[in-house]
Amino acid sequence: MNYLSTRGTAPVLDFEDTMLTGLARDGGLYLPEKIPSFSPDEIAALEGLSYEECAFRIMRPFIGDTFTDDTFRRLIARAYGGFDHAARAPMVQLAPGHFLLELFHGPTLAFKDFAMQLIGQMFQAALERNGKRVTIVGATSGDTGSAAIEAFKGLDNVDVFILFPHGRVSEVQRRQMTTPTEANVHALAVTGDFDDCQARVKDMFNHFDFRDRVGLAGVNSINFARVLAQVVYYFTSAVSLGAPARPVSFTVPTGNFGDIFAGYLAKRMGLPIDRLVVATNQNDILHRCLSTADYRPDGVTPSISPSMDIQVSSNFERALFEAYGRDGAAVAQLMDELKAGGFSVSQGALQALREVYDSGRCSEDETRATIARLHRTTGELLCPHSAVGVKVAEEKRNPATPMITLATAHPAKFPDAVQEATGIRPDLPARMSDLFERPERMTRVENDLSAIETLIEERRRP
Ligand SMILES: *Cc1c(COP(=O)(O)O)cnc(C)c1O
Repeated sequence: MNYLSTRGTAPVLDFEDTMLTGLARDGGLYLPEKIPSFSPDEIAALEGLSYEECAFRIMRPFIGDTFTDDTFRRLIARAYGGFDHAARAPMVQLAPGHFLLELFHGPTLAFKDFAMQLIGQMFQAALERNGKRVTIVGATSGDTGSAAIEAFKGLDNVDVFILFPHGRVSEVQRRQMTTPTEANVHALAVTGDFDDCQARVKDMFNHFDFRDRVGLAGVNSINFARVLAQVVYYFTSAVSLGAPARPVSFTVPTGNFGDIFAGYLAKRMGLPIDRLVVATNQNDILHRCLSTADYRPDGVTPSISPSMDIQVSSNFERALFEAYGRDGAAVAQLMDELKAGGFSVSQGALQALREVYDSGRCSEDETRATIARLHRTTGELLCPHSAVGVKVAEEKRNPATPMITLATAHPAKFPDAVQEATGIRPDLPARMSDLFERPERMTRVENDLSAIETLIEERRRP
């Protein structure tokens, strides 16, 4: 399986190099040359299998000969062995025809663990084999950082640096990044917002000299391996509701567009998905773009769903590439316009996007009201991100098709917002109940490329 860049000029790579590289050298994002498809019989056969077996069957066609079947099965088993629910991604019912897919039973209590735990295993296996070292640098709005640190801490061939916006992540999120004691992990608190952190990471990837010297690798959702791992739970949840015989829709709390793009891949692979609904908080650039064709960032406003406080949504580039008929030059042009302030999607491409995606926005007040109401009507405690999804799903739902809303984080990750809405302070699982007693370790840095690069060069192990 070959992978090509959304901007059309970077070298074509196999799965292993795509995974170890992250961002393409032309600034684009990698996608498979051809998206594999599954027959209705192959999809129906997933019914009743373990999550791990489904993961193996669904991802196998994408990885080529990077791992043997036995090795790949072993890596998957290790990745999901640390989850604290036997189903890995269980579903609960919220209302007639409306289901909640709980993606927060992994080690750091957010859906990011599904991909990060697996790519931690895959990186380790690939690096051990080829004797290479890498420096992983990632930007986080809160959950990617803790999931990456959890997945890569203590590995011999990897140093991990996570940039997060100082003062703009929840205390649980921050502590999950600052309390691991392993010497190869470094939490960097950047003076700025998430878009600044993400921009500095992209700058480092575009600084080829630095990139090659430190062996830079990326684990943000620009990394296709992450998106791929997220395809699996679209299949397992849809099949448990009757797919392929019965179509389903999904609503996805969205920031960087990685999770919902995994849903798009599932649809292209043959899963009968009717609508993919993008749910945004007040930082609603994706909703505005899908409504008006105009994509113009105007600054991030901090919200109670901080993991979605994003205005430059990296993976939207993958959706644009598809909507423009895989025209890399057209995408490169849009991204140049974005640097100058923004762009307008062409009529044809907008129509293509709307055939797949629907969208809605949820205000701060609506988010709190939804957390309170769902607790009253179902007993479920929702995290604020999941509440954004539930609210938008209720507006967009077509009664003829089951709707699955993705619950992207555990309520205990955002205890203040949940307590304000319901009066109940959700408890952390017992295994992390001492999180608030552990000593913290982090480094403050300015939003300055050369300062960050210097720090990384000093701290990484040669
Ligand atoms: C990362 C994250 C999101 C957004 O996911 P994207 O793939 O960036 O769109 C939503 N909710 C939570 C809790 C997250 O951690």
